[in-house]
Amino acid sequence: MYLTISNGAEKINKGLKILKNVPLAPLTSFGTGGKADYLATVTTFQQLKETLAWANERQLPLTLLGGGTNVLISDRGVEGLVIVTTALTAHYVQNPLFVCQAGLPLDTAIDLMNDNYLCGLEPLGGLPGSVGGAVYGNASANGESIASHIEWIDYLSREGQLSRYYRRDDDFSYKKSPFSDTEKIIWEVAFHLKPCHDPSKMRVLKEESRAKRKARGQYDYPSAGCIFKNPSEGPAGYFIEQAGFKGYSLGGATVSSKHANFVIIKGETTSQAIYDLTLLVEKGVLERFGIPLEREIRLVGRW
Ligand SMILES: Cc1cc2nc3c(=O)[nH]c(=O)nc-3n(C[C@H](O)[C@H](O)[C@H](O)COP(=O)(O)OP(=O)(O)OC[C@H]3O[C@@H](n4cnc5c(N)ncnc54)[C@H](O)[C@@H]3O)c2cc1C
Repeated sequence: MYLTISNGAEKINKGLKILKNVPLAPLTSFGTGGKADYLATVTTFQQLKETLAWANERQLPLTLLGGGTNVLISDRGVEGLVIVTTALTAHYVQNPLFVCQAGLPLDTAIDLMNDNYLCGLEPLGGLPGSVGGAVYGNASANGESIASHIEWIDYLSREGQLSRYYRRDDDFSYKKSPFSDTEKIIWEVAFHLKPCHDPSKMRVLKEESRAKRKARGQYDYPSAGCIFKNPSEGPAGYFIEQAGFKGYSLGGATVSSKHANFVIIKGETTSQAIYDLTLLVEKGVLERFGIPLEREIRLVGRW
């Protein structure tokens, strides 16, 4: 299934379904940002390879987009080609491996694992976004990181070469994977899981993780999750709150009063306003505590 692309988009290549000047805001959880010069929503391996070849011929910069729940897209748009993975959702089971394509929503993947009597990722229940995005940033929640369940990852180079990577513990760290800040395209991920005899119990565990997020108000307003990584001194949210930013607003972007490391959107805003707010918070925490915060969300496009 292709995403519904807004009317303004001009189709430039029927075979590949590459579209020109496509608004990206509807494809992100913040709901802000400008247009992609070109956008392709690939559905097959062949299409992905052909799309890469098309971009390489034109030497276009490349950006991967999964669920768009950990990115801040520039209001001035994204240069080159954006490849959206959300239609890549196939999966299969080869006990004890669960293998899926990168665009499958992580939450759905956990349900499918449980359906197949496999478990381990329930603490990540309710985490928005795709498997590819979660692997890229080594997503974690409730003391569990996605990395610890990965067996291998099939990825493509920018040139379209398919390779298999086998997980080594040392390659992953807090919110970082061997794919972070590279041009490698995560295609398929194999998770090594534990057998579970009672999937319904696992589903309850997963739903508890989701319910905790809901109770904390994580789904009440558009956001991109935690803005900053936790520094070694403690939770970023604690320092942001102590620096007096809880509830602080700038141009429609607000530091959540429930979780100070979330910037939430309560009205009309822009990516620039969100970005400016994060700079203010960063400066405030540095001045008050001498702690430099590192941004967790990814800045994408012409910043
Ligand atoms: C309400 C809320 C709660 C959240 N809670 C958490 C949490 O508890 N823990 C946590 O870790 N995160 C959390 N997040 C952040 C986010 O959900 C995760 O980081 C998620 O894993 C991102 O996946 P995505 O598909 O949306 O990635 P995107 O935002 O689409 O992309 C993120 C990065 O991954 C790259 N990427 C995506 N797919 C691929 C691919 N196939 N190949 C190569 N690169 C790729 C993109 O280029 C980009 O740099 C939260 C977000 C929200 C909105």
